[in-house]
Amino acid sequence: MQLSPQGRRPFYLSPHFTLQEMLESETAERLEIDNSIKIPPSVGGGSEPSPEPVEGGELTEGDCSRNMTSPASQARHPLQKGELIVANLKALCLRVLEPLREAYGKPIHINSGYRSHRLNYIIGGSPTSQHLKGQACDLVGATHGDLIKLFNLIQSLGLPFDQLIAEKFDPRKEKMPATKASAGSAPRGWIHVSYRADGKNRKQILYR
Ligand SMILES: [Zn+2]
Repeated sequence: MQLSPQGRRPFYLSPHFTLQEMLESETAERLEIDNSIKIPPSVGGGSEPSPEPVEGGELTEGDCSRNMTSPASQARHPLQKGELIVANLKALCLRVLEPLREAYGKPIHINSGYRSHRLNYIIGGSPTSQHLKGQACDLVGATHGDLIKLFNLIQSLGLPFDQLIAEKFDPRKEKMPATKASAGSAPRGWIHVSYRADGKNRKQILYR
């Protein structure tokens, strides 16, 4: 079963986030780069098209935690690459994005989630980028004020992130904009946040 950004049925990774939005990429679309992933039909809840939106198949929290089990157990139940990416994205949504979305109270826009090797190479991503494994996403809020608010919320909520990066903005230098007009301007920069279901989350905060 091929899951693409253009897939019609929303594949929910968590209550507010779909797999489709984690695969979407303007660059991939523009340059016609394949950024889809393949998973066994059983994971996606069947390959037949359904008129109704379906929950994210039979992937449960158990599937996510399988990544955290011993190497011996992993050898007995190896997750296929596509399945592993979905499990990682799901863990990122459940552990970081959902609690953040709840505290923020408004939709969060995902700029980039999973990236295929080709897409990552073309946009100049690091060859070890956590986007390649479905462990990271880039996000913004509605306004620049919201971008700073989200960056601060991820920390104040004590979310278990691995890396939190302020990309092309510096919340240390930018106090919350003083006027309503500047607070309401479009976001300048974005937040990169990652979560590892299979290891220690380092809670690294970086400014680039
Ligand atoms: Zn990123």
